[in-house]
Amino acid sequence: MQSEANRAISRKRGEALRDYTTDYREVKGDIPKGRDAVYIAQYEAQKEKLLALLGGTQTDWDDWNWQMRNRFDDPDRLAQILELDAEVQQQIAQVGAQYRWAITPYYLALIDPADLADPIRALSIPTIQEMGTAGEEDPMDEEHTNPAGIITRRYPDRLILNVTNACAMFCRHCQRRRRIGGQDQDVGRIALDESLDYIRQSPEIRDVLVTGGDALALSNGELEYILSALREIPTVEVIRIGTRTLATLPMRIDDEFLEMVQKYHPVYLNTHFNHPRELTPEAITACTRLAHAGVPLGNQMVLLEGVNNDKYVVQCLNHEMMRARVRPYYIFHAKSVKGTLHFGTSIDDGLEIMEHLRGRTSGMAIPTYILNAPGGLGKIPLLPNYIVERDEETVTLQTWEGRRVQYPNRPKQ
Ligand code: SF4
Repeated sequence: MQSEANRAISRKRGEALRDYTTDYREVKGDIPKGRDAVYIAQYEAQKEKLLALLGGTQTDWDDWNWQMRNRFDDPDRLAQILELDAEVQQQIAQVGAQYRWAITPYYLALIDPADLADPIRALSIPTIQEMGTAGEEDPMDEEHTNPAGIITRRYPDRLILNVTNACAMFCRHCQRRRRIGGQDQDVGRIALDESLDYIRQSPEIRDVLVTGGDALALSNGELEYILSALREIPTVEVIRIGTRTLATLPMRIDDEFLEMVQKYHPVYLNTHFNHPRELTPEAITACTRLAHAGVPLGNQMVLLEGVNNDKYVVQCLNHEMMRARVRPYYIFHAKSVKGTLHFGTSIDDGLEIMEHLRGRTSGMAIPTYILNAPGGLGKIPLLPNYIVERDEETVTLQTWEGRRVQYPNRPKQ
């Protein structure tokens, strides 16, 4: 039994811990979320408008192929759904001549037409800032990490298969935009088979990430060709799929895909949500259906100025992800990709967010903050300093509350 004295100490500590949650609890109701009634109503109204314009039905809306066929990629058509003055339309056309853009009706319906600072708008509608000339085309040096076919290889036991340059939506912050241009290009069978041969001859490769572009821009049949071929390679233990469709086209997770993917387990899926507004009821359903199909889910967010560069927004996004059964996996520091520099943040900003999360929320809801080293040299995890000093005898550490503690470097015999 707990003594009264100890109970009193525990209660006092509980109150102090509760105080750490006060700031977030005060603001979280004001952080827009995709499941908020106000945004659901706004989405439904925009959806009706879009269906009337496109001559579609609810059945069409729920069909990912219909969504893809009816993507918006023309400023005049866009102006039929969002109020855009002539200058903005001209700017969208100017950017579009250099960098491809296209928005699914679903994602377009999420934009708050009255809010020019809407994060969904920032992620999807071109702005003139993209015409900035600073930055690099290929900061990851992907052209020099391609040993065969459509492979990118940067690590000892895993590699990437870039199976398409197509995406459901062309995100304005895209870090691989040099590959996302012109016409959609699914890779041909020759390049794919060459890549599969490379994996067969590389027994050290135990983990293959199938991505693009967006892997789920491929048909279920095309995907099954790839997954079944990988599963037949005995040394490939894990298959991962990279896709942003859970956020931009959640109807992509159809019955046929769910039935197919279960034949090739273990298949993991990493997705890319950047803001709690993207976690709509449709997106949550897509995540949940994948979880029911035995697909472990992780989220890779990109830290973006004007979208999610805020510790409370990131905390809220991660909590929303956990509710949807998706583990927050990475926060990527935005690279200096030409045309996207206006989304850039400082590393200090990212570290401040990480410092805020640690202790205030469960470790499961804390992703790893990653900087991709220039030149394709791999991921570098960035952490606030928890080791203050160390010598052979003692390590001085800092707790999440900022308290200093000393710990023996090795246990005393
Ligand atoms: S889905 Fe991914 S690859 Fe495609 S445009 Fe968006 S960020 Fe780029």
